[in-house]
Amino acid sequence: MRDDGERPKDLVDHEGWTDLGDNHAFKYFRWAPDRELNPQYEGIADVPRFGARVAHLKPDGSPCLEAVHFDLPEVHAVEEASKRYCLANGIPYGEHYPCWQVQSWEPLTLSPSLLCNPVKGGCGDHGFIKAGKWVRA
Ligand SMILES: [Zn+2]
Repeated sequence: MRDDGERPKDLVDHEGWTDLGDNHAFKYFRWAPDRELNPQYEGIADVPRFGARVAHLKPDGSPCLEAVHFDLPEVHAVEEASKRYCLANGIPYGEHYPCWQVQSWEPLTLSPSLLCNPVKGGCGDHGFIKAGKWVRA
């Protein structure tokens, strides 16, 4: 099934999505590249919880999706390997991943707040994930 374009409450019954309440739901995403195609990641183990996608509703009620990376040593190792690979091969390197602190995994609490940034095409949704619930900012 598709993860985008669906309303948060419709996603919750599907594998991996967790309801946060207030028309928000999240799903962890993993990092697990094909090492044959991406030898620059040799020696870095797969990361089952690399970040999370957060489904929510825009002010007009239509579905929206944002994503965050977690502030974990494994995430920084991947970023460093990507940066080294790009610089060594003359590939422009994108911006640093903004990362969120995981204060608790179960139930999930992240810091700081999450903003579906209008400057980057987001809908302006803003709030916190605290103790597994969505708390509006
Ligand atoms: Zn949004």
